[in-house]
Amino acid sequence: MRIDIVSIFPEAFTALDVSVVGRAKERGLADIAVHDLRDYTHDRHRQVDDVPYGGGPGMVMKPEPFFEAVDALTRPGGPAARVLLTSPQGRRFDQPTAERLARAAHLIVLCGRYEGVDERVAIGLGAEEISIGDYILTGGELAAMVIVDATVRLIPGVVGDERSVEAESFTSGLLDYPHYTRPVEYRGLRVPEVLLGGHHEQIRRWRRREQLRRTLARRPDLIVWDALSDEDRAWLREEAPEG
Ligand code: SAM
Repeated sequence: MRIDIVSIFPEAFTALDVSVVGRAKERGLADIAVHDLRDYTHDRHRQVDDVPYGGGPGMVMKPEPFFEAVDALTRPGGPAARVLLTSPQGRRFDQPTAERLARAAHLIVLCGRYEGVDERVAIGLGAEEISIGDYILTGGELAAMVIVDATVRLIPGVVGDERSVEAESFTSGLLDYPHYTRPVEYRGLRVPEVLLGGHHEQIRRWRRREQLRRTLARRPDLIVWDALSDEDRAWLREEAPEG
């Protein structure tokens, strides 16, 4: 997969060089490049913003550098690039979106700043606007890193053990079960006995039940009753008899 990120702060993306995403880059599973939006300007000041039409506070990012960046990064004859625009007004990013993006061959991620980006960028480039949550960041760089991290780790081969991706929160529609490692007791807190016994079926059932319990307590909105087994539903009714 090829990912091009366009930003006025390309130096902000060093975080993508470490850990899982860094290894994916090294091993050629994800070809990630960061581009300076100012490289697509033509004036002496490399200006990327201008005053808003209609007045009002702040500056708006100009359309031309974004259009020229996307033109330059879209390889003729290559796979169609999917253009993403980071925006608090976009659709909320979630695990299904990451799964969808992980199947794309080429993503171009555009980062806004200031008051935002000239509306023609989203319209003219057919960009998918993506928000990482209902709050305002100063720029799209952190949002782009969140999107790229969550997407790249879903590319087959990036995370060493595929089972850890499959078992995670949201992937199964439920929150993850609790994890423990050594020591068996720490500050009076013990690892649940079932995990010490080596009985795989009991462990599997305990973990499933913990997933259901947690999801019901913390994120009941995630539970799709019709998608659960009879045993799951019986467990959940024990937890919430009125459910
Ligand atoms: N005036 C804009 C509004 O109210 O919708 C906010 C602009 S924000 C200060 C500047 C840039 O940060 C945005 O263009 C976008 O690229 C990025 N940004 C801010 N919050 C974001 C969020 N929750 N998700 C994704 N990108 C965000």
